[in-house]
Formats: sequence, C-alpha cells, structure tokens
Amino acid sequence: MINPSGYEKSGDNRPMGTVDADTIVAISTAQAPAGIGIVRLSGPEAFSLADRAFQAYSGRAFSPSDQRKLRYGHIVDGGSVLDEVLCVYMKAPHTYTAEDIVEVNCHGGRVSVQKVLSLFLRMGARMAEPGEFTRRAFLNGRIDLAQAEAVEDIIRAKTGLAQESAVHQLTGGVSKKINGLKEDLLHLLAHVEYAINFMEDAMEDLPREPMEEEARALINRMNQALSGAETGRLIREGIKTVIVGRPNVGKSSLLNALLEDDRAIVTDIPGTTRDAIEESFQVEGLRLRLIDTAGIRETDDLVESMGVDRSLALMEEADLVLVIVDGSQALQKEDREILEKIGSRLHLILVNKVDLALSSDAQDLIKGEGSSGPVLAISAMTGQGVAELETALSDLFFEGEDGREGADFLSNIRQIDLLEKSRDSLSSALRGLEIGVSLDALDVDLQDAYQDLAAITGESIEEDVLNKIFQDFCVGK
Ligand code: GDP
Repeated sequence: MINPSGYEKSGDNRPMGTVDADTIVAISTAQAPAGIGIVRLSGPEAFSLADRAFQAYSGRAFSPSDQRKLRYGHIVDGGSVLDEVLCVYMKAPHTYTAEDIVEVNCHGGRVSVQKVLSLFLRMGARMAEPGEFTRRAFLNGRIDLAQAEAVEDIIRAKTGLAQESAVHQLTGGVSKKINGLKEDLLHLLAHVEYAINFMEDAMEDLPREPMEEEARALINRMNQALSGAETGRLIREGIKTVIVGRPNVGKSSLLNALLEDDRAIVTDIPGTTRDAIEESFQVEGLRLRLIDTAGIRETDDLVESMGVDRSLALMEEADLVLVIVDGSQALQKEDREILEKIGSRLHLILVNKVDLALSSDAQDLIKGEGSSGPVLAISAMTGQGVAELETALSDLFFEGEDGREGADFLSNIRQIDLLEKSRDSLSSALRGLEIGVSLDALDVDLQDAYQDLAAITGESIEEDVLNKIFQDFCVGK
C-alpha cells in the first residue's frame, strides 16, 4: 500500500489560505461510452483517500518519487475490485488546483467512474460543486479570474476560432493587457494621492496637462480593446443571425445552400441552461446561430410567419441580418421597408435568383444604388455567389488576418461591462481634470476606474459575483 507520510505537509505550500480545507471529488470526464473516464480528487486528504482505495499491481508501496507517474493497479472496496485503473498523484502546489491532486483513470462509460466516485464519497470526500476545481485554482492564486473563465470557454468552444481565443486568454493574453492598463491607471492615481496627502494647494500642484494626455491615451487603448472585444464575444458566443425577406425570395433555399456548403450544421442539445435549441453553422471559423429557422422553414403560412413586422422584430434581436430580395422582380413595398429599416445594423443585402433575368431595381441595387450596405448577387439555386457571400461574412468581422489576431482580446460580457465602466469613470476623471474639480472627486473616479479593471482579473471581487461565475461551470472542472 501507499505510504502517504511524505505528503503530510503538502498543504503548507498554498499561496493563500482562503480555500475550504476539505477534499473534493468529481468525475471530470463526460459520462458516455469511452476508453477512459477520470475521477479527480483535490485537497489535503486526496493522497490518503487514494492510498486506502488503490492497490498497486506490483504490490510496491507508493513513494514520493512516484508523483506525476501513472501507476497501474485496482480500486478496491473492501474485498471487491471496482475497476482496473491507472492512478496519478500530483503534489501541491504545482497542480491544477494548487492542492494535492489524485486522478484515477478508470474505464469509460458511466458505471466504473460512478462506483469509484461513490467509494471516495463514502470515505469522506465531498462532491465538488460545478467549477470548484478551477475556483480553487483561482482562490489559491494559480490563475486569475479571466484565466479561470477561459477554462470554461475552452470546454464550451464550438469552433476552432473560439477555442483559440480562449486558449490565448488562458495563457494570460487578456490578463496581460488588463494589467498594463491597471499600471498606467495607477500612475495617474499616484499623482492624485500624492497631492491629497502631501501638497498644500492641491489641484494646482497636479501636472494637469500631462495627466490629461495620459488619460486620453488610456481611454483610447480601452476603446480599442472594447471594439476588439465585441468581435471576441461574437466569436465566443456565435453570431445571432437572421435571414429576412418577403415570402418566396429564397430564404430557405439560401439556408440550404449555406448548409450544403458547410455540412457542420449543429443542433445543440439543451444539456445545460446555457444552450438553447438552435441551428448553427460555421463560416470561416465563425459560428452563425440562426434565429427563427422555424419561421423560414414553415411553408404553410409564409406571409404570416415572415411578414415585415416579424422581420423587423427579428432584426432587433440579431447581431447580423441577411436581407434577401428577389432579383427577378421589381422591389416591392415590403422590400423597401426592410431596406430602409435596416439602418446601422450589421447586415448584408443579397440579391437572389441572379440566374434569372434581373429587374432594373435589382440591377441598381447590385450597382450600389438605393442601399446603405454591402450588396451581393447570388443564386441560392445554382450556388453562384455563395462562396463570395461567405468571404463577405468573414470580412464583416475581421479585416484580414491581422483582425483575427486582434480578436484574441476580452470576450465575455462580464469583462466587457467592467472595462466599459472603467473607461467611463476614467472619462469622468478626464473631464474633472479639464474643468478643475476637487481632488477628492478626481480620486473617486480614478479609484472606481481601477476597481473595475481589477475585478476583470478578480483581484478584488465579491463572493456572490464569484459564485455566479462558477455556477455555470461543469462539474468536475
Ligand atoms: P422563401 O419563402 O423565402 O424561403 O423562399 P424559398 O427558398 O422557398 O424559394 C421560393 C421559390 O424560389 C422556390 O421555388 C425556389 O426554388 C425558388 N428559388 C430560390 N432561390 C432561387 C434562385 O436562386 N434562382 C431561382 N431561379 N429560383 C430560386
């Protein structure tokens, strides 16, 4: 049997003492027929629990030098063998949670892992809450909050691009930018704090002009980050897309043409609260989530299901609107109404049925007359122009390859909201500098701006916010 005595002091290396001292356990892999399934333990008792349950095939006792090596044996409950496993021991603090960890590689499927899990529960481990392993990694100071969020984003990524962006965030891409902003903000704050504490005629003693310049430069950087963030969010969450147009212009034909070109149609299974049933497909790494495909596919009452009012309502909800008109016909009142109402919403106008003789309205549209946005000539039936449409879609979100790199930045709403708030407080501080408000007012604005930045990486964060973030995680992560 294993001799865990070498690990008695493992908890001493923890960077912060804010984590519950209990040992948690969960099944960390999906429970479906598969080669292996992993049960993970983390906490001060991880080694001793595993030690009691694991019998090495060689009969050789576990020694500290075995850590991070897979050992072969059985998980045994009393006299009976629950499963044949490979077991790995990892000592704090250089582990996922920064605590002692044991991972038991069982056979996959539901039963083996559940038997092993329930044995550890009976032995005194506690069932991990959703995201608790990652939460511990955060509370123990191994990763910051933006990195913790990235873990969940990697798991839930539905496209290569979304996963790439999340991996970049996990390796600290976002944190580095935020920390850079924080440092510069501290520099501004230091002037104000110094004047408050050590100067006589406070406001006069501030180097106001250089400070205003610094503040403007910082606001610019924040704005740049925010515009990239919107693309980041769309990459991460998918782009809510609606196809609008009068009956019979070719909406469902276009949908089919797009789906045919990319067979990766996904109908999400509503396994968690985050996923709703919807259809989506990928274009150049972007995921287009189609709103109301039912409305498009319903054929019996098209006027009702895709009337102009309904189109306008759907446009409100969408990140991206594809407007289709029938190129073989003159524009009708409804077409014009939709084209007028589209306004500044992100959209593409598609003149369909270009395999037929085009109406003069359609020809004008294609020449760029009478519309505000990009117009493409397509035939949903022959597939003409569909490839160009896909390129145009990608160009809406990225300006060339460089644009894709910029999209590595912030991606979730929580982070974006905080950065916006921080920018607004800083703008208010800038106005204060310009008109000469009291030092205290300036101090409050700059402090607010700093606190919001700090909350992005979780440097200062309320317990209930933390709970909200981790409650969306999967169990075992
Ligand atoms: P929806 O009501 O807007 O979804 O329109 P549909 O996709 O059902 O198309 C209506 C009719 O137009 C069908 O008979 C299609 O075959 C036809 N159609 C759609 N796209 C094209 C096209 O590009 N060229 C031609 N010639 N016919 C098309």
